Amino acid sequence: PVVLGIESSCDETGAGLVRDGRLLGHAVASSMDEHARFGGVVPEIAARAHVHAAAPVVRAALADAGLAMGDIDAVAVTTGPGLSGALQVGVAAAKGIAYSLGVPLHGVHHLAGHVAADTLEHGPLPNPCMVLIVSGGHTSLLLVRDLARDPIVHLGDTLDDAAGECFDKVARVFGLPYPGGPAVDRAAREGDPRAVPFPRPLTGPRDDPYAFSFSGLKTAAARWAEQHRQAGLPLPVADGAASLQEAIADVLTRKAVAACAGHGVGTLVVVGGVAANSRVRALAQSRCDAAGIELRVPPLRLCTDNGAMIAAVGDLLVRAGAEPAPLDVSVDPSAPLTYAALHPVARPA
Ligand code: ATP
Ligand code: MG
Ligand code: FE
Repeated sequence: PVVLGIESSCDETGAGLVRDGRLLGHAVASSMDEHARFGGVVPEIAARAHVHAAAPVVRAALADAGLAMGDIDAVAVTTGPGLSGALQVGVAAAKGIAYSLGVPLHGVHHLAGHVAADTLEHGPLPNPCMVLIVSGGHTSLLLVRDLARDPIVHLGDTLDDAAGECFDKVARVFGLPYPGGPAVDRAAREGDPRAVPFPRPLTGPRDDPYAFSFSGLKTAAARWAEQHRQAGLPLPVADGAASLQEAIADVLTRKAVAACAGHGVGTLVVVGGVAANSRVRALAQSRCDAAGIELRVPPLRLCTDNGAMIAAVGDLLVRAGAEPAPLDVSVDPSAPLTYAALHPVARPA
């Protein structure tokens, strides 16, 4: 069956088409530029941009796949978490398409979409696998079994800021353009990662091995910038960016590899927007190689928000025989990640 996935939880409007685990085509529109002068996503602007982008993006995804509306056998949509107004636009579009075509609708958790993105490039996930999800709003270590059926086990989360948030906020302090993550990544290329000894939060022997904290790192970076300003010295932005990126990549990969070892899991999957970071990818690879762990990271275009990843979850649900969502399903802006779907497939007793 051909599954259409729709994503609108933040500032990307995405649509993707997946059949039997294969990506047939997708399209993404972003309102990022409209938020740039505010330094962050403005919910009302994001929602309005989704209204304008929804239909063209679905059409573009169909064109990319060489398919027509009538070829769609099921629709999957992000019901949460995310910005309420933004989510509602995607959910309304998905309901309209499902209703008019007479096909089932499936509600999908945004973060499960990030996880499933990897399957479009590397095939089905091994069961179990360790997942490090690092995005603009989340930083978590998850033990994932069958995405369509099993509950997702949270080993640890961030106690404060997400890693992507740390990249974005420090970028602002460093005077780098929005969005901050990619800008830090670029600036870091010319810098020395050992220039500034930024802290490695929660890596001490008494700390929770699977919990994260990035607000202290953010403060340390801001203080370092402020010291230069007060001394009237130019800010060595490249060194600061490289050192910040090194600290974040070090903590993330160290804990993720330790979690694999601690749970006897042979595969680490790194997903979410921050999985696009060049140093996170490189350090995860070398540490996994050293530990004999298989590393899977989606290609860059599938790391940040997109509709293909939502279609990927929908495809798993449809093939597992999941019960569809009712057409009056509502959004859940703070949906906890307990299952990948609103209606997971019940395990036979
Ligand atoms: P969530 O998925 O938690 O709801 P989100 O959907 O806003 O949040 P994503 O689209 O998954 O987040 O990722 C966006 C985040 O990824 C931003 O914080 C952005 O700065 C970060 N990011 C993107 N590319 C890079 C990069 N190359 N290096 C570091 N961070 C990056
Ligand atoms: Mg975004
Ligand atoms: Fe996301």
